[in-house]
Amino acid sequence: MAHTASPTDLAATLTRDIPGLEVLSDAAAIQARSRDSWVRSLMKSRLDGPPSAAVVVRPASAGEVAAVLAWADRSRTPVIPFGLGSGVCGAVLAEGGEIVLDLGKMNRLLEVNGDSLTAVVESGMRGSDFEAALAARGFTMGHWPQSIELSTVGGWCATRASGQFSTLYGNIEQMLLGCEVALADGRLIRLPSVPRSATGPDLRHLFLGSEGTLGVFTELTFRIHPAPEKQLGRAFTMPTLGAGLEALRKIMRAGWTPAVTRLYDATEAGRNFSIIADGKPVLLLMSEGTALRVDTEAAAVAAIVAGEGGIDRGEEPLKSWLGHRNNVPTFESLLEQGLIADTIEVAISWDRIGDLFETVCARGAKVESVFAMSGHVSHCYTQGANIYFTFVGAQRDLPSAIRTYDEVWKTTIETTIELGGTIAHHHGIGRVRKPWLHKELGEGVALLAALKRSLDPNGILNPGVLVDP
Ligand SMILES: Cc1cc2nc3c(=O)[nH]c(=O)nc-3n(C[C@H](O)[C@H](O)[C@H](O)COP(=O)(O)OP(=O)(O)OC[C@H]3O[C@@H](n4cnc5c(N)ncnc54)[C@H](O)[C@@H]3O)c2cc1C
Repeated sequence: MAHTASPTDLAATLTRDIPGLEVLSDAAAIQARSRDSWVRSLMKSRLDGPPSAAVVVRPASAGEVAAVLAWADRSRTPVIPFGLGSGVCGAVLAEGGEIVLDLGKMNRLLEVNGDSLTAVVESGMRGSDFEAALAARGFTMGHWPQSIELSTVGGWCATRASGQFSTLYGNIEQMLLGCEVALADGRLIRLPSVPRSATGPDLRHLFLGSEGTLGVFTELTFRIHPAPEKQLGRAFTMPTLGAGLEALRKIMRAGWTPAVTRLYDATEAGRNFSIIADGKPVLLLMSEGTALRVDTEAAAVAAIVAGEGGIDRGEEPLKSWLGHRNNVPTFESLLEQGLIADTIEVAISWDRIGDLFETVCARGAKVESVFAMSGHVSHCYTQGANIYFTFVGAQRDLPSAIRTYDEVWKTTIETTIELGGTIAHHHGIGRVRKPWLHKELGEGVALLAALKRSLDPNGILNPGVLVDP
């Protein structure tokens, strides 16, 4: 039976039963951790009032995380793991009565092994603090999400995140070597950190992307790299979007892996690189690593781009992007200006990417109140790439803005399914994509539900997210 105590009783009981645990029960602290940065939750909370969990706990160790989960499991109290709330899919959204498990106190870098190139870190460490601590020792993990200052290393793993330099360093699943996870009943399991293993299915993948529904990451061991000796990159204008996509496809096929591979369509190029764009798509490429590798790669990729009609616009636009790449307007500020905007990232193979790009932009632009639907490519693979769509619309009032929002999401996701792409490249499922998960995974959703029932039989871990038991 679910816990029915009042928030005050719940806070008092947790304080009594888990001595030393930090428990927050003031409304502001709870509301600040009761939703993530999903723009639909923001609009709903302006319309209906802010969501509120019952209580926030801030464990200082894996032992305390385990104790909270064991307690919650016994009392059937739902628990929402919380990093920094930068998720954009509604994976943190209190419905009332939950314990928010804020991992922010578990923020220590525990070990850096420069010989084996590994780093061990507690899961609540802020991403930018982690990279800064590695840089001070001469290393990098190479994971640079735009939200690096707004997110935790544990949140990255829980959402299967990607950084802006992923074409070189890989995504979070290539970086996670080993981990410690607390299960719903309070058991702690450790998956060892080794270069590679053939010990059956890879259990790390049970938890990567599970959005706090199957377990709570407490400690992570990541693969790291020596800090790069050199960075070198340029911007190019491309005659058409198709030419830009073809250049990227050929770069990947030839085995080059520039850290930055970003192709903006003409709309986004005009918005971000107005001085050079001239109505054309813009391609940014940047290599980093040892000087020998960087020089060789930069020359090779520039030749491929020239072969597709790209015109070299020099280093400045790339440097300017590097300097400002994480400064984006908040959803709040856009709402204040009477706008509604969001981003939707998907991925697809090279043979279909042009079709998906054009079809989504054309269909999205027809949705009522939308005045711009655009996209860029930012994570490339030998087989294909992501597309990061952005829509902007006029907001008459919140109810109609929510209708516009839902319609653009439906159009984008259903077109992606129709043309054979994946509905999520790196933001995860949360609540926003959950209605379509079965269309991509088929019977896989039943398997996920069975895993959920097996690992969390009482359904306490982040209910409502990803999959229903
Ligand atoms: C401006 C902006 C830019 C962004 N840019 C990027 C980008 O470039 N790349 C990218 O991938 N994403 C990006 N995001 C999305 C977001 O930053 C990521 O999803 C990030 O990984 C979330 O981390 P967090 O610590 O804030 O997690 P939260 O939002 O707090 O939580 C996200 C999910 O993970 C779960 N969770 C958190 N910590 C743990 C844990 N220790 N164990 C188990 N579950 C946990 C939560 O329950 C929730 O389901 C961006 C977001 C914003 C607002």
